[in-house]
Amino acid sequence: MSETIFSRILSGDIPADIIYEDAEVVAFRDVNPQAPVHVLVIPRKPIPTLNDAQPEDTELLGRLFLAAAKVAAQEGIAESGYRTVVNCNAGAGQTVFHLHLHVLGGRPLQWPPG
Ligand code: 5GP
Repeated sequence: MSETIFSRILSGDIPADIIYEDAEVVAFRDVNPQAPVHVLVIPRKPIPTLNDAQPEDTELLGRLFLAAAKVAAQEGIAESGYRTVVNCNAGAGQTVFHLHLHVLGGRPLQWPPG
């Protein structure tokens, strides 16, 4: 897989405000936040899009969601409410082709999203 801005964050090539990490998952603040809390949760494994996830990634996908909930609690938005989003491919707004879960909260969120 080709290098992405997120693989460069994982390797430490470029800085990021990392707020959670473990052996498989890293979470850092989005550089262009769309809400008072906007965190990206990514796997260390470079999976380009959700379409590329394989059956052997099942546990890893679960870990992304568990990390998102941990981040939400850490950021104080677990009870007020937050949204997790995965944009898959350009038509849905994906710009970085390393799978990531957006965690958005800290303000009222409208539905449906644009
Ligand atoms: P996508 O549009 O692919 O779902 O989300 C990519 C997200 O990555 C965007 O919200 C964008 O603001 C964020 N982003 C892009 N480049 C960087 C960067 O260098 N650092 C951080 N922290 N976030 C980035």
